[in-house]
Amino acid sequence: MNHVVAVECRRCGRRYAPEDVTYTCPVHDGDDDGVSGVLDVRYDDDGLREHVETEGVPDSPADLWAFESFLPVGAGRTVSLGAGGTPLHEAPRLSDRLDTTVRIKDEAGNPTGASKDRGTAVVVTRAVQAGHDVVTCASTGNAAASLAGYAARAGLDCQIFVPADIPDGKAVQPRLYGADVLAVEGTYEDAYECCRTVSADRGWYNRSAALNPYAVEGTRTLGFELGRQAPTADWVVMPMGNGCSLAAVWKGLAEFARLGLLADPPRMLGVQAAGATAIYDRFVGEDEPGPERATGTAADSIDVTGPHNAARACRALEESGGDAVVVDDDSILRAQRLVGESEGLFVEPASAAAIAGVERARETGIVGVDDEVVVVATGTGLKDTATAERAVGPVRTVSADPDELPEL
Ligand SMILES: [Zn+2]
Repeated sequence: MNHVVAVECRRCGRRYAPEDVTYTCPVHDGDDDGVSGVLDVRYDDDGLREHVETEGVPDSPADLWAFESFLPVGAGRTVSLGAGGTPLHEAPRLSDRLDTTVRIKDEAGNPTGASKDRGTAVVVTRAVQAGHDVVTCASTGNAAASLAGYAARAGLDCQIFVPADIPDGKAVQPRLYGADVLAVEGTYEDAYECCRTVSADRGWYNRSAALNPYAVEGTRTLGFELGRQAPTADWVVMPMGNGCSLAAVWKGLAEFARLGLLADPPRMLGVQAAGATAIYDRFVGEDEPGPERATGTAADSIDVTGPHNAARACRALEESGGDAVVVDDDSILRAQRLVGESEGLFVEPASAAAIAGVERARETGIVGVDDEVVVVATGTGLKDTATAERAVGPVRTVSADPDELPEL
């Protein structure tokens, strides 16, 4: 049963019946300072509380549909590739290196290799239930692959807009799923605007999280799972690009706290790369970032210089009593290699940024030696081996003659 009661404008507080609005607040749906008219989905807490009392909440969900009663979908068909239900790894050697207790929520095992599958499962299910034929989004890569995979699963057409400089692996994956991938000559922001205009003209259903209020609702299940797997965590650490994933995870954690399912929710630590610091700047109250602070980063998933959900991310950081840090590309590449060598996890550079963020937060005293820290590894590093090669260097060539093999 669906417990959605309204969608609410985060800017003006107006509430709308879910069937009356598709995307942003009609009163101000233009872009402004990162607030725009993004709508937040509101649920009936009493109804959910009653559901929890009668049905309980799964400790080890097989996938995110174990939380279907918390999700904004109807009673019809759900589209599934098995997103959610990901492991939380102990990380003893990494903890030693970072001088605090770290565990890793490993989202690489999602169907297309990234946490975006949680949001996509819900959006594509809504598209199917509403009778849409074409879905679309603008993406730095992971959401594109995710939407394309789920569209294929559901039998929908898929049109993807990406910035032209995304890693090859991220441009190939959605095409393999049968999507049309349009590489826009420009930044992510250019791709987003192009997608928004064309999809409005042609009536395509747009997954972009800066527009579609339901795009991040599935990501709340990551917060739900953390609430079950790590109820004593002091910090949840996530990379921030657009800011929507961190906000959604916090929304899930806060909901579980309100429903009495989590006694002491963690603080959120948001991590940005030095070349794309807009959310950090807003959080610490700095003025518009200068051009030298919007130079881009090797962590392509968070290479967003004009994030659309900055206000939402900052609110989540504030509500949780959290904080934000910035890390440079060298520390991101070092962290990518470190988590690979120490724990056997090949994470994407954005996830490595979160690891580097823990290191930074230990240096500055934000995170203490006795704190329990959970890092969300948002996606696999296998989609971008060119950047990973910068972390490990070139492969060594040796003679085929075993006698000539050097000491190893
Ligand atoms: Zn409004």
